[in-house]
Amino acid sequence: MFGVVPKSIWNKTNPADENNLCTWAMRCLLIEDDGRLILIDNGLGNKQDARFFSHYYLHGDDSLAKSLHTAGFSEDDVTDMFLTHLHFDHCGGGVYYQQDVLALTFRNATYWSNEDHWKWATHPNPREKASFLKENILPIKESGHLSFINPGEKSPFDCFDIVYVSGHTDKMMIPRISVNGKVICYMADLLPSVGHIPLAYVMGYDTRPLITLEEKEKFLNEAADRQYILFFEHDPVNECCTLKRTEKGVRLDRVFPLSEVVA
Ligand SMILES: [Zn+2]
Repeated sequence: MFGVVPKSIWNKTNPADENNLCTWAMRCLLIEDDGRLILIDNGLGNKQDARFFSHYYLHGDDSLAKSLHTAGFSEDDVTDMFLTHLHFDHCGGGVYYQQDVLALTFRNATYWSNEDHWKWATHPNPREKASFLKENILPIKESGHLSFINPGEKSPFDCFDIVYVSGHTDKMMIPRISVNGKVICYMADLLPSVGHIPLAYVMGYDTRPLITLEEKEKFLNEAADRQYILFFEHDPVNECCTLKRTEKGVRLDRVFPLSEVVA
C-alpha cells in the first residue's frame, strides 16, 4: 500500500498484523441530487470464494446494503452507479449472485465508466489482471446498463465534474463534487488515505508511478489553494481532510467527518 516507503516507517501509522495485513476501509459515497441518487463506488461485494477472502478478509459489521437502508434507501433507488475504476475493491459490490446467475445489485441504475478504462479492464495487462475480475465487469455490459463518460465530454451530473488520472490505472475518474459552496473530491486510489499525502507515498499497485507523482503534485497544489475537501475511500479512520502548503510541500491541515460538511 505504500510502495517504496519502508515498512519501518509506515508500520508506525498503519500497523500490520501477524499475516502482514493492514486495516483499510472501502468507503462509498451516496449523493442525492435533484431526483437522482448517485452512488460512487461500491466496495468488493461478497461473491468471491473463501480463498479470495482469506487475502482480503472483511471485518466489522458495516455493509453497503446496511448503510443504504440506514440512509432510508434501497438498492433499487440508486439511479447512477459511478465507478471510479474497475479494480475489484471499487466495483465488486455492483454485481452479485442471484441464485447461480450474476445480476446487477442496482438494477435500476446506469453504471458509469469510460471507454478507455473499459478497454483497459476488459483486456487487462498481466500486472493488473488479478484486480480486474470478469465477474465484476462483464455483467454490466451484458445487462445493457453501461454508459461511458469520456475526457472532454460534459459531465452528465449537475453536482460534479470529473478529473481523469492515469498513474494508478488507465483513466481513473475522480469526482469533484460541489455542495453547500464547498468542493468535495472523492479520492479513490489517487490518495487512498491521509498517510499517502507526501508525494513519495505511492502504492506499489500503481501501473505508472511517475505519472502518479505528477498527477498527485498537481492535484495537491490545486486542492490546497482552493481549499478542497478530500474524501477518503480507503482511510480506516479519517473520512475527510483539508490541505495546506508548507516548506516541505503540501501537507495535512485538518481531519474531520463528512457530517461536518453535509447535514
Ligand atoms: Zn485501484
